[in-house]
Amino acid sequence: MKWLLPLALLAVSHPAAPPSAAPEAPLDQAALRRHIEYLASDSLQGRAPGSEGGVKAAYYIASELAGAGLAPGAPDGSWYQPVDLVERTPMTATAEWRVKGHAIALDPSLGRFIAMEGGTRLVAAPVVFAGYGTTTGGADLKGKVVLLLSGKPSEGVQGFEVRRRAIAAQGAAAVIALSGENDPWALIHDQLGRGRTVASGETHAPVEGALAFPAWIRLVDPELVVAAKSLEFSPHLLPVTLDLSATSHVRRYSSVNVIARIAGHGRAGEAVLFLAHWDHLGLCRPEGAADRICNGAVDNASGIAALIEVARRIEHGPPLQRSLYFVATTGEEMGLLGARALVRSPPLPLEHIAAALNFDTIAISPAGEPVATIGRGMTPLDPLIDAAIRSQGRLIDDSEAANAFLGRQDGWALMEAGVPAVMIGGAFSDSARLGAFLAGDYHSPIDDIAHLPPLDGAAEDGALHVVLGRMLADPGLFPLRAK
Ligand SMILES: [Zn+2]
Repeated sequence: MKWLLPLALLAVSHPAAPPSAAPEAPLDQAALRRHIEYLASDSLQGRAPGSEGGVKAAYYIASELAGAGLAPGAPDGSWYQPVDLVERTPMTATAEWRVKGHAIALDPSLGRFIAMEGGTRLVAAPVVFAGYGTTTGGADLKGKVVLLLSGKPSEGVQGFEVRRRAIAAQGAAAVIALSGENDPWALIHDQLGRGRTVASGETHAPVEGALAFPAWIRLVDPELVVAAKSLEFSPHLLPVTLDLSATSHVRRYSSVNVIARIAGHGRAGEAVLFLAHWDHLGLCRPEGAADRICNGAVDNASGIAALIEVARRIEHGPPLQRSLYFVATTGEEMGLLGARALVRSPPLPLEHIAAALNFDTIAISPAGEPVATIGRGMTPLDPLIDAAIRSQGRLIDDSEAANAFLGRQDGWALMEAGVPAVMIGGAFSDSARLGAFLAGDYHSPIDDIAHLPPLDGAAEDGALHVVLGRMLADPGLFPLRAK
């Protein structure tokens, strides 16, 4: 996504803060550590949404932000924005496929079926191959089992989730993802088996699931698979039927985004958004394991710690024209669910949000690293970011390597909705160090306090965000994007 660069930005390479201004002092490392020690403690059990530890984490963050002098900022005037979630875990499934009336034996481990409302039975349901499509091309999908190729072979093809929802909305009885020949089926099978959590109210078919390549290629003529690459391809009724009975465990629960606000002076109806996800993976190892808790110290207690301390620093600093919102999101680990809920019900219109800055996994690198930007080259923010980095006497990493993480962080939900959103810091500049974290502590029980790296880099990155937040709160330095 590209934004047109407003002309006014050309003036931005001039300093926002006077050039003589001293760099912003790093955040208080002891304060950062205190937040991380609590949020990543075993008593919070890994901060899973819907768990007691999750409730404690959200309460802690709201209390800290209130203590720092901020006001509640959720759309209803409270500290908490409800985010309703539904988790579905497959329990049982028996599937019988028939081609031209003859039953064919498919290895049950090559398929996963999730009964989205708890239990479903299909009898001789007709099966349609829809390729990469979303449009019916006149085909009637009502009551049909629709096989949908996963992946995105070309620009013209929409993402799988968008296509899945569109097919479900046409009344399909089931939407089954067809995994690619080279996709890691064992992983996909395992992940679906552990259940899938989505926002409540999301459109879905009564049955969703996936088939491995060796299974579905026995149902779909390979020539059809080739033909499906054309954007003109329309769904094709196969000489195949499916008998299926499946049950799932369905759990509905509510979690929250914590939202706080510093009111602007003069342009309070416009805002700069800071966000960081508070949730983590909870109990992530089976019963009996030596350590079952994924504490999420770096991911993302570190980002929440920075969010709180940046809020405190800005609240105690000079008044700013625009309002600042500080949002601690839930459900990031499940697919940016809290950030997407925020986008659906923002505390102010999205076009009034000048920019969004996300903190995720910031406590990796020591101080002194060049500053990289996830979202570099994709928003009109780069000149302002560079000015902020220079004002801190730090080096700019202007490579776009970190953009590989673009879709894996909450800022992406804002960016998809048209809000310039980036994630900035020294942690994203050293790809070897980041790679080592992702291959090691990441999403495991050892991302805990005992393994927490020194916080000098996080403290320095936090100061940079204070500077950048103040600049972005100035409409003269960074105008709202034109509609
Ligand atoms: Zn994570």
